[in-house]
Amino acid sequence: METLLMWDIDGTLLRNKGAGRRAMNRAFEQMMGDAGCRDAFDHIQMAGGLDLHFIHEVFAEQGVDRSRLEEYLSLYYAHLKEEVGDGQSILMPNVRNMLERARRTDSLYNALGTGNLELGARIKLDLFDLNSYFPVGGFCYGLVERYQVLQDGVERARKHYAVDFAPERVIIIGDTVRDIEAARKIGAKVIAVATGGNSYEMLEAAKPDLLLADLTDEERFFALCE
Ligand SMILES: [Mg+2]
Repeated sequence: METLLMWDIDGTLLRNKGAGRRAMNRAFEQMMGDAGCRDAFDHIQMAGGLDLHFIHEVFAEQGVDRSRLEEYLSLYYAHLKEEVGDGQSILMPNVRNMLERARRTDSLYNALGTGNLELGARIKLDLFDLNSYFPVGGFCYGLVERYQVLQDGVERARKHYAVDFAPERVIIIGDTVRDIEAARKIGAKVIAVATGGNSYEMLEAAKPDLLLADLTDEERFFALCE
């Protein structure tokens, strides 16, 4: 059966040790031209969340008008490129093998399912040359919920691959309870990996279809995709 694999990025495919947060902080400080605005994003709980929610929360706290979003985003992308290139980003174990194996398997299709804005996602993946695995995906496209990002990604993948994936043939791969909850809302299966935002025990309590310590357990992973 044709199956869509929708991969989360942060904590699942890679970790960049706070590069996204640092880039958001630096962009905000630069836009405001005020060192007093330093570290404005430090208190935001990011794991499993959506970029635009973080930005709108800080804008609201600091009294910044939403009309400055585009200005902010162009600064953010520039800082993100610098921050992810600082040598601290790491690819999670076995990620490239997994993506390659999925791409080689006729019945499997790769897509992204991430709370990142698309350009930010592409910048993070480009560092490891992973963009070619993901011709399509669901990204943060507005002040929406995570399940809507996944829903949007499934729709885009149906069009891109010209395959009408059934909801139960969509598998979300993520590192947080938020990924698991969003997957359930769209009727998808979910593989949780304990390499990121939440502990193994927290993920276990949220009852994913499969829980892995990391992505080295290829056999159990691909058994669920059959
Ligand atoms: Mg994540």
